[in-house]
Amino acid sequence: MLVVMDKDATQAQIDAVVAKIEALGFVAQPIPGGQRVAIGILRNPGPLDPALFVDMPGVIQAIPVSKPYKLVGREFKREDTIISFPGLELGRGRFVVMAGPCAIESEVQALTIARLVKAAGAQFFRGGAFKPRTSPYSYQGMGKKGLEILKKVREETGLLIITEAVDHESLKLVAEVADIIQIGTRNMQNYTLLRRAGRVNKPVLLKRGMYATLEEWLMAAEYIVSEGNSQVILCERGIRSFGEHARNLLDLAIIPAVRRESHLPVVVDPSHAAGRRDLVLPLARAAVAAGCDGLLMEVHHEPEKALSDGAQSLYPEQFAQFMQELPSLRPGGWN
Ligand code: PEP
Ligand code: MN
Repeated sequence: MLVVMDKDATQAQIDAVVAKIEALGFVAQPIPGGQRVAIGILRNPGPLDPALFVDMPGVIQAIPVSKPYKLVGREFKREDTIISFPGLELGRGRFVVMAGPCAIESEVQALTIARLVKAAGAQFFRGGAFKPRTSPYSYQGMGKKGLEILKKVREETGLLIITEAVDHESLKLVAEVADIIQIGTRNMQNYTLLRRAGRVNKPVLLKRGMYATLEEWLMAAEYIVSEGNSQVILCERGIRSFGEHARNLLDLAIIPAVRRESHLPVVVDPSHAAGRRDLVLPLARAAVAAGCDGLLMEVHHEPEKALSDGAQSLYPEQFAQFMQELPSLRPGGWN
């Protein structure tokens, strides 16, 4: 249930509602809105009677929430969530582009690509220091050394950094360096990792699990937000399908579906959906047209030599050309 307070409600009236929720044995989560405060009730095992709250001073409405996800749902918060970074915003028409290699391979590689994507107009540099690979024999990333390189990339280029945390240990390290912590498709249902990410004061980009329904994805986001971290960005990256013409099936319908159900921003990774370079840009254009809030793209200056995902990495010139095209694909908002 969501208890909506009058826009002139006093702090004492808000506190009284919180105290009543807690006295009932539930958890109260005040959500400050543009106009008024709403208070979410969590951990109640079944539906509550609105009469418990509607007569309290300062309360204008008590709305039963019909969806299993609460904090990330539109029923709870109608306005889009905007995530702020130094010098830019993400969400509600504020579009961002995150680009870089699949994995950090060396300082020279990272800096070379970072300078190229920066010159093309990207705002974030992506690159995994910790890589969750399908094969234990594949390149696993540089680990801590990779994070040091990412720090240097930020210092030298001014690009913000997004990089993946694969477990509790790497989460701690990544949180010290990254501007956005990425949680990958394989970890979308790693609930202990999600809870930990919910206790970190950094935005989290949560990739959709490769078999996840919209509801499962939003419930995963709910794990993060319910621990107190409301800065979650959803990322569609393609789901498993039967076709062999692409690595995954980019689910464009999920973009408007997320918008309908949730206030969280949604970005798209066309690279892992495509699996091959020639499909990446058509998918990126389609994702922009479908209304996503940003793109996460793999770019490599020497994709033939890349230690992971070279086949789907764009050449820097292709990326730069796409960045030129992007404003015409988005006549609306721009950072
Ligand atoms: C990545 O972004 O490098 C990655 C591993 O992606 P995903 O989790 O979508 O496979
Ligand atoms: Mn990759």
